[in-house]
Amino acid sequence: MQQLPPSQWTELADLIGQCMDYDSAFRPSCRSIIRQLNSLITSDYVILHAAEPVTQSPMSIAVNPAPYDHTLFEERHLCYISPLGKGNFGCVELCRYDPLGDNTGELVAVKKLQPNKGPNLEDFQKEVKTLSVLHCDYIVKYRGVCYSMGRLSMSLVMEYLPYGSLNGYVWTNRHNITTRRMLLFASQICKGMEYLQTLRYIHRDLAARNVLVANDSLVKIADFGLTKVLPFDKEYYRLSQPGQSPLFW
Ligand code: AMP
Repeated sequence: MQQLPPSQWTELADLIGQCMDYDSAFRPSCRSIIRQLNSLITSDYVILHAAEPVTQSPMSIAVNPAPYDHTLFEERHLCYISPLGKGNFGCVELCRYDPLGDNTGELVAVKKLQPNKGPNLEDFQKEVKTLSVLHCDYIVKYRGVCYSMGRLSMSLVMEYLPYGSLNGYVWTNRHNITTRRMLLFASQICKGMEYLQTLRYIHRDLAARNVLVANDSLVKIADFGLTKVLPFDKEYYRLSQPGQSPLFW
């Protein structure tokens, strides 16, 4: 039997796949299909495949590079809900991406570069690029970018992890969190770090505040603002220039 080639447009291919589920309970409703199609085809929603191979840039992945997509979120559909926190050079906000304007859109976390942090634009762009090529269950998922002020400003759009940072979560649940659960989280963080290591990435800022909690049994590594890639001919990272670093030795 012959098969059609899979669609290059992965979001569309996913949606088609969902609609073909044999079990009707798992097929999306009409409303959900329309919403998903709408968000795929709204005027300036495009998927740009970077023309240059990822291996040509300094922040590229050296091993098994994943294609690096920039899914564009339209600013006008990104509805602010509340602040989530502040990091090295950006503030993170909870927003709903709601192209239909009926509150059915998905919740996302949006990291914006703070206006007074101008010189760090390049680092921020590196963070966006780094996250966009990481695909691991234990690393926060990149969703895309959003441009504002006619492309002068860019935000990073990520999946929203409702329980926030691990340090806050552990403190809030300090009376009922079990050792077993802590070990589960620790093993997930190790798996995420192992994945980064296979791609020669060095996170450089791993801390409970930079680990996010998805639910009671899943945590993910976040904040790749200080991440560096280790060149092939090096076995360890040596700090060579002044700048932001949590490590001084
Ligand atoms: P960061 O700049 O990545 O360190 O983020 C600053 C703070 O924002 C974190 O400590 C979290 O509390 C919050 N935050 C960042 N990303 C997310 C996310 N994807 N979902 C929920 N909260 C987040």
